[in-house]
Amino acid sequence: MKKTLVVFVGAGRSGSTLIDLLLERNKFCFAVGELRYFFSRSIGKNQLCSCGDTVFDCLFWSELAKKTARLELTSDYGYFNFFERLRNFYRLLLSRYFGCYRKESQEYTAVNMMLLDYIFSKAGKSVIVDSSKFPFRALAAKILLARNVDVRLVHLVRDPRAVAYSWTTVKKRPEIKDEEVYMDRHSFVYSSLLWALIDVSCKFVKLFYSRDQKITIRYEDFCVDPVGSYSGLSEFMTGVPDMSLDLDEQHNSPSHALSGNPIRFNKILKVSRDDRWLKNTSKFKRVIFGVLLYPLLKSHGYKL
Ligand SMILES: [Zn+2]
Repeated sequence: MKKTLVVFVGAGRSGSTLIDLLLERNKFCFAVGELRYFFSRSIGKNQLCSCGDTVFDCLFWSELAKKTARLELTSDYGYFNFFERLRNFYRLLLSRYFGCYRKESQEYTAVNMMLLDYIFSKAGKSVIVDSSKFPFRALAAKILLARNVDVRLVHLVRDPRAVAYSWTTVKKRPEIKDEEVYMDRHSFVYSSLLWALIDVSCKFVKLFYSRDQKITIRYEDFCVDPVGSYSGLSEFMTGVPDMSLDLDEQHNSPSHALSGNPIRFNKILKVSRDDRWLKNTSKFKRVIFGVLLYPLLKSHGYKL
């Protein structure tokens, strides 16, 4: 099977960690978490892998962590930000259509392929699932990595009002050792606008992917039929549907995912739709934000 990189795009708090944890059970897939943060958080801040060790002690990551430390790639976040940030994405287009930024493009490809080659070889799997979710990381992958690896895109969508509500809640970050740190919180207004910006960016990036290289999944649909959705996703990623997902079976071997939702540290995985936002958000607020985001809401089949 050809080596494949599957890049998830979409807003944070859309349920990608839950889907990752299920994809880890697929015999072809390795769910890597948010690979974008390998240098800045896992190496630079010595944060914990989901197995409970730092990347320097983790059985899966330690070799790579030591190698990148030797190469002094430990804290340089620039390799990714140079092309992947929203304000920098024009560089990708200039690189693609006019051959600009040749040195940076080569460097970006080399650094990313070093990570990917290591993961493919260490995991012994043919599909890497990267849930970084940055839309322009998917564009960078398509433009700068597709010559080396088959690249596919999953656009994960969740009702923006549910996403915005989730960003207002308090969540601890268990990957940070020795101190109590909480995930960033944002206002409902900020998160709704950010969701819209991310959604428009995802729609733009999807234009660069052919029909068979992209798929859109709604978190809500996934939770209603996790077994069927998982199988469809497996077919999209690996070419092989897989209806064998047993939700009652708990996975015993530790995962090695980087960054993401704290549920990746839970011993027991519960697949259920998180609809707390409906109870905790006033109808007035839901309608107002529904109207504001209506064209995007409608494009994904959500109601006011
Ligand atoms: Zn680990």
